[in-house]
Amino acid sequence: MMQSQFWKHVLSLALFFWLVCPMFSLERPPDAANLVVNGLLVCLDGTFKETACGAMPELLGLKVAGGTIYPLKEHENVQALFLEKRLQTRQFRLTLRKDDAASPLFELVKSQLIRGGKLYDFHYFCEVCNITTHAPGPCMCCRETTEYRESLAE
Ligand SMILES: [Zn+2]
Repeated sequence: MMQSQFWKHVLSLALFFWLVCPMFSLERPPDAANLVVNGLLVCLDGTFKETACGAMPELLGLKVAGGTIYPLKEHENVQALFLEKRLQTRQFRLTLRKDDAASPLFELVKSQLIRGGKLYDFHYFCEVCNITTHAPGPCMCCRETTEYRESLAE
């Protein structure tokens, strides 16, 4: 009796990982409305003006050549650009999207880092679940530590 309970538990757990975990790794499909911009990560104040960065800035933006600033909608993937020291850069190529025309904020679709004039992809990888994420911290599925990885972009 106890044993069948145990196997039922194992089975439902396996089903959970099989069904739920792949959803985390799904990338958004490419979209013609997406905007790809190269620039410098800056901290913004409440009026979207560039300001000195605190320990945990409220608002981040990407400042491109010419001075235009794209304010970024708050997301853990956006915060990772500021907090992740292993990136060793403030230069990024970001793919952005504006879902709400009335809002000045841009949603981050994809981020790549620029270091020494070269473009790199970066992500966090969980070996247990074989999934990638774009923000540091434990794996969303199994809570194991994820591994930071980067590679030269094609
Ligand atoms: Zn995992």
